[in-house]
Amino acid sequence: MGCKLDRWMPKTGIGTAARPLRVAIVGSGPSGFYAAEAIARAEGLDACVDMYERLPTPFGLVRAGVAPDHQKIKRVARIYEARAASDRFRLIANVTLGRDVLVSDLRRHYDAIIYAVGGERSRRIDVPGSDLAHSHPATVFVGWYNGHPDFRDATYDLSVRRAAVVGNGNVAIDVARILSRTPEELRVTDVAEHALDALRHSQIEEVVVLGRRGPLQAAFTPNELDELAELAGADVVVRPEDVALDPESLADYATAPSSARRNVERLRRFAERGEGHHRRKLRLRFLVSPEEVLADERGTVRGLRLRHNELVRAEDGALRPRPTDRTEELEVGLLIWAIGYRGAPIPGVPFDDAAGVVENDGGRVTDHGVIVPGEYVVGWARTGAQGLIGSHKAASAEIVKKMLDDLHEGQLPQKVLPPPRELDELLAERGVVVVRYRDWRFLDAIEQERGARRGAPRDKLTRVDDMLAKLAHTAATEGPRRTG
Ligand code: NAP
Repeated sequence: MGCKLDRWMPKTGIGTAARPLRVAIVGSGPSGFYAAEAIARAEGLDACVDMYERLPTPFGLVRAGVAPDHQKIKRVARIYEARAASDRFRLIANVTLGRDVLVSDLRRHYDAIIYAVGGERSRRIDVPGSDLAHSHPATVFVGWYNGHPDFRDATYDLSVRRAAVVGNGNVAIDVARILSRTPEELRVTDVAEHALDALRHSQIEEVVVLGRRGPLQAAFTPNELDELAELAGADVVVRPEDVALDPESLADYATAPSSARRNVERLRRFAERGEGHHRRKLRLRFLVSPEEVLADERGTVRGLRLRHNELVRAEDGALRPRPTDRTEELEVGLLIWAIGYRGAPIPGVPFDDAAGVVENDGGRVTDHGVIVPGEYVVGWARTGAQGLIGSHKAASAEIVKKMLDDLHEGQLPQKVLPPPRELDELLAERGVVVVRYRDWRFLDAIEQERGARRGAPRDKLTRVDDMLAKLAHTAATEGPRRTG
């Protein structure tokens, strides 16, 4: 039974077989799919979900954020595939909110909207020289090696001897690891072919990860350090003085989260192993902040002036970095800033610029503090870039529960919805080529077949035009493949 609202429906009984609840989820990453899952599982609810996605390919962060050598994490997409196969679910991809479809269109056609648009931008840092050539945000570098169409044409000079990655989160570790892997290790991942090609010719001998606080305060997780120990062609090097905890960190050690203590244990083990024997080194440094990016005569990055920090206890009890009078210069030819992600504003959607998220109160969208009825936000667009993928399952379910509470209590706008085909017609009138889930399956099969040739799970299509051309070609030769 499909979700066919092909006549004007009465105002009452929303969420019943006679009048299913119609929900638009904007964004097809993990949080969006977990919200769809929670809606599907809600007892006694009859609901239809349309999921909008800007790219022709679904799964957001799982496809374009999770590192290509983390295939186990990417397997979570199988759960999303099962949801997408339901006849109460439609993928409406290759459609950009604010351009192809407006928030006002969604308000007219749906009872509720859930924004699951993630955090697509890198946090910026105000350091002199940070915008020099060869200084790049992690979002772009990660998108580049993951084949995201927006970053397909980014270029990186990998002919340099040393790269630095600023930040001490899992993204910094991902970036450092990808730069440190051998071509043989990368070939069997779904790293984008253009990135594989560039990384194959990399001359980088040293990748230095720079944390502004100490080992106990690092945001990365122990599993990520374990993985570094397994690199086929690089040694992880930590200087003993960098893992000698300062008195304040020692005072915190016993009560620190177990992951922080496990990090310190692993870092100590790295320190004991010394320099190792591989040509390539991945160095983890602590208590240093870039103070200035130094330019060569061509205006490209030649180095960093690093300020050494000490830790001081802030009023909230946390240890924060305080600059000391010590500095050093580090020669660096490539610089990646991995200091966190933030959301990007979408026309018509209230945005909290300070926090870099959709303005919300516990997941209910607000506009200047006033609740916008029927609109919700999940995932990184709600909380900022934090939490592992799995942790957003319960978080999305919690927001869906709030939506259903609002439905129950009559807080959702009571609307008479036009039939869904009107929205399809609107998109067609605007010349939007909508990519459906079955189209994606077709592209997916192409990618997997291409990947098999190099022993990889997939070799991604990285240009939107190319994807659409493949779909148009098959539609012309095999007839329409589209369903609702
Ligand atoms: P993150 O975990 O928030 O880490 C950001 C890092 O940047 C922190 O070490 C932070 O240091 C540092 N930083 C912030 N501002 C800075 C500045 N001005 N100068 C120097 N350093 C600065 O963010 P993320 O690494 O982007 O990761 C985002 C989320 O994705 C996290 O939840 C992460 O666990 C997750 N993720 C998971 C995986 C995985 O499971 N393998 C992979 C990638 C990402 P302070 O702590 O001192 O602020």
